[in-house]
Amino acid sequence: MRFIYLLLAAVLPAHATFRVVAAENFYGGVAKQIGGDQVEVTSILSNPDQDPHLFTVDPHTAEVLEKADTIIVSGIDYDPWMSQLVAAHPNSHLRRVVITASDLVGAQEGDNPHIWYQPATMPALAKALADRFAAADPAHATDYRQRLTDFLATLDPVHARIAALKSKFAGTDVLATEPVFGYMADALGFRMHAMGFQNHVMNNVEPSAREIEEFETLLKQHQVKLLFYNSQASDPVASRMQDVAKAAGIPVVGVTETEPAGTTFASWMLTQLDEVEKALSK
Ligand SMILES: [Zn+2]
Repeated sequence: MRFIYLLLAAVLPAHATFRVVAAENFYGGVAKQIGGDQVEVTSILSNPDQDPHLFTVDPHTAEVLEKADTIIVSGIDYDPWMSQLVAAHPNSHLRRVVITASDLVGAQEGDNPHIWYQPATMPALAKALADRFAAADPAHATDYRQRLTDFLATLDPVHARIAALKSKFAGTDVLATEPVFGYMADALGFRMHAMGFQNHVMNNVEPSAREIEEFETLLKQHQVKLLFYNSQASDPVASRMQDVAKAAGIPVVGVTETEPAGTTFASWMLTQLDEVEKALSK
């Protein structure tokens, strides 16, 4: 008997039940936390040195997507290349499920696309993933539900931190080179300025001379307490504004589009919230 087990173990490779492809690594990380050993996860955007807004697909992306049965897209124009690829590769035989994070929180085209910074997004995505896995693999439904509970518990300190910072710093005037941290800034009760400038930089369009002048004035005249800077994109105007802030003694907090290696969604958010608190406590 023992011999047969060993033989089977050698012949049958360990096989995940689901093949998940996430357009962005923060969604892929959550899929792994919910799916455990039952899932194999590939994330397309994970390079901390790459601007996701400038990403273009390569043949590898299409190849990975061919085999996916569970696909996670952020939506509302953050990753249009992913929706195009999904449409181009129907693969109905895989009974493929596509989960669009922006749909889960009712975000619309034209809204700030960095929706994973909105506190409601990850709980909704985690629940959608647990539902998807449990429905297609009822034998492990209890495991998926348990991992969902565990994942939501990792977010408790994040939500507690947001509430604590909000009670301390709500109403603070802040500025950003891009709207990456926008939803979190809203959750903290900050007053964000210069949205026109930010949207232009995000879309790789040069802000107008007037927008740049207003931005500089806010910094030089100390009308804002903090500048958020997208450390994952290099834009000449944005980096010049970072220099203006430093010269004026305004603290600069770097935020990233994707999740840094070796972190979880919760630890990533907590680290950034720490940075915010440090900067505002100076
Ligand atoms: Zn962005």
